Amino acid sequence: MSAPKFSVTRNPAPASPQRRADVLAAPGFGRYMTDHMVTVRWTAGTGWHDPAVVPYGPMTLDPSSMVLHYGQEIFEGLKAYRQPDGSIASFRPDANAARFAGSARRLAMAELPEDLFLASLSELLAVDSEWVPEAGGEDSLYLRPFMIATEVGLGVRPSSEYLYSVIASPAGPYFSGGVKPMDVWLETEYTRAALGGTGTAKCGGNYAASLLPQSVGAQHGCAQVAYLDAEERQWIDEMGSNNLFFVFRSDDGSVEVATPDLRGSVLAGITRDSLITVAKDLGISVVERRISGQEWLGGAASGVLTEVFGCGTAAVITPIGTVKHSGGEVTVGNGEPGPVTLQLREALTAIQRGAAPDPHGWMHTLVPASASV
Ligand SMILES: *Cc1c(COP(=O)(O)O)cnc(C)c1O
Repeated sequence: MSAPKFSVTRNPAPASPQRRADVLAAPGFGRYMTDHMVTVRWTAGTGWHDPAVVPYGPMTLDPSSMVLHYGQEIFEGLKAYRQPDGSIASFRPDANAARFAGSARRLAMAELPEDLFLASLSELLAVDSEWVPEAGGEDSLYLRPFMIATEVGLGVRPSSEYLYSVIASPAGPYFSGGVKPMDVWLETEYTRAALGGTGTAKCGGNYAASLLPQSVGAQHGCAQVAYLDAEERQWIDEMGSNNLFFVFRSDDGSVEVATPDLRGSVLAGITRDSLITVAKDLGISVVERRISGQEWLGGAASGVLTEVFGCGTAAVITPIGTVKHSGGEVTVGNGEPGPVTLQLREALTAIQRGAAPDPHGWMHTLVPASASV
């Protein structure tokens, strides 16, 4: 099926060039939105219809729209990068499209076809291309596709109507002034996801449930929370929005890079998957296995665990310095970003900004150089 044609309604009052330049000079993350957004509707019996690029602005929702009561909401997050030739590309958006469909399946929502997902990004960027920062750095335009249940009524069942939308927000480099490690709270009371639950879907409900433990971690000075499995409270799953990697160095100097295997309670990060491949390209093998909280604490204490980092689209790789928990805290290595962490981060970000070859065909052009400003 070829994607249906989008109607385009230009924003009659877009940001002035000066305003846009001011925003792009210091965008932060998620604070400013571009001039337009995408909307596509789904209705049972009709399927997907009325794909449109419209001015960014408030949406009207009936108070009994199902999403407001039973939480059928899913989302994605990916970045568009200006390439050295002026084109705009994103990183593995087909993988985001596939994951979005998988999240929809788990929440009994309508599945958006992959070509419509990709077209929605290109259509938005064709109109908002001036919001994509210059090439060469880590600045990007963050894209947020999401979908909500819009059927009106309080009956508990899958909605018969959905609204898919994409909004976009310029993002500055995650680390301004060098990659800095963060402290992480190892949570032993609350869990993120149970086998058979929604942990493998990217849904707002998972994030709602993570906010209380997140604030507990923040009270201990931690930027993120690492979760243990819900059954045995022993095995590291991941953090609230990042997967985890561990670097072990044995006495003979050999290095093992490990990441928790994708048991049914871990979100399959595209950064995680890409790093496993990038590491292999660099001659570093990554094993996917169970890693216990005890192995983290004990390994950091004994020194065999030399690096730990989180990974996800927003920061790509974030080194972890100290892990804190209800019984104390321990610092990994010397608390500074380690060599494997930095090497992997540089290798992946170089592909994304178009500064290194793309041997796996991960970069997907959304707007060709000729059509972009
Ligand atoms: C989005 C997300 C990640 C990271 O996924 P990427 O595709 O690498 O951005 C990791 N864990 C959770 C829970 C997430 O929601």
